[in-house]
Amino acid sequence: MTELQITGKGGNSTIYLDSQIARLPELIKNRKTVIITDENVFGLHGKSFPRVEDVIVVSAGEVSKTLQSAGDVFRRLVDAELDRSSLVVGIGGGVVTDLTGFVACTFMRGVSFGFAATTVLAQVDAAIGGKNGVNLDGFKNLIGIIRQPEFVLNETTMLDTLPSEERINGMSEIIKSAFIADTALIDLLEAAARTDDPYRAVSMGEAVSRAAAVKVGVVNRDVFEQGERRHLNFGHTLGHAIEKLTKIPHGYAVAVGMVAAAKMSATRNMISQADAARVAALIEAYGLPTQMDIDLGGAMDAIRKDKKRQRDTVNFVLLKALGEAAVEPISFEELEEVLRDLR
Ligand code: NAD
Ligand code: ZN
Repeated sequence: MTELQITGKGGNSTIYLDSQIARLPELIKNRKTVIITDENVFGLHGKSFPRVEDVIVVSAGEVSKTLQSAGDVFRRLVDAELDRSSLVVGIGGGVVTDLTGFVACTFMRGVSFGFAATTVLAQVDAAIGGKNGVNLDGFKNLIGIIRQPEFVLNETTMLDTLPSEERINGMSEIIKSAFIADTALIDLLEAAARTDDPYRAVSMGEAVSRAAAVKVGVVNRDVFEQGERRHLNFGHTLGHAIEKLTKIPHGYAVAVGMVAAAKMSATRNMISQADAARVAALIEAYGLPTQMDIDLGGAMDAIRKDKKRQRDTVNFVLLKALGEAAVEPISFEELEEVLRDLR
């Protein structure tokens, strides 16, 4: 497996797995190109960027996912005299790929764009699937559009410079992909988890590629999130609530959400208690939290406000086996019980 393809109404995209940033010139061809990156990625990897018209370096972090930074980037694209046949390439984590996609989709009603993803989270999730956008007044991803990047390039060695918290954060999404759709990935992760240092033992290239393949498969079957794409929200309904309440990083919050969803699946006899324990054990082995002292009322409130709410129930992604997800409505009483259990 060296490449994955996304095809369909939202456009086509090729994901180059375990590839090298040195391949970018081949993908850029002879087009006039501007690179968008952030200060950390530029500092660590700028030397390996290809020669292009301009390199726009934004501040690191969520602060750059705003209409204001999009505006700054638009002006630089005008200065670089990009036209409709030009290319914009985002090199960075999810912040850079979301911003780059949004800017490229709206500049002159849309120019071509591609990504070199440099965080685990971007390589398995953010860069894949064509969702892009910026935040508005603290509301995440409120302004955006779905359109596929022409290419996504995943270089595994780029991940070597990641701070360990970022690696752990992205691992949460890899674990999610395994439990919703890939038993071989569960095996791979569990085998490494039996060693003293799972992050050293695991083949990151293979784990990232398998998780990316899970996302590509789901997106190909449901690009506009009418059905199966919701499986990618495993652990996320509760995860988002925890994120809001505690401000812990996304992947860490989702980890707690996955443990809760697995417990709920066991309570409903969809999986065994032993399987639910395997979910929690794997999450723990990779340095992610399995429980959290959360404010019950606050969490319930946040979930009630979540867009997936339907009257007295909330749609939750549960497991019907390890490696297979299902969306089920669950009652607020059931949810409250599980939340109480988490503390
Ligand atoms: P990020 O882009 O902020 O990167 C995290 C940190 O790692 C930053 O400080 C960055 O400068 C640094 N970094 C990046 N690559 C590095 C490298 N190779 N070595 C050292 N440091 C590096 O965050 P992220 O976790 O990659 O992405 C989070 C964003 O992705 C959020 O805004 C989220 O909304 C978005 N997202 C989008 C989608 C989607 O479908 N579009 C899906 C999931 C998440
Ligand atoms: Zn996520």
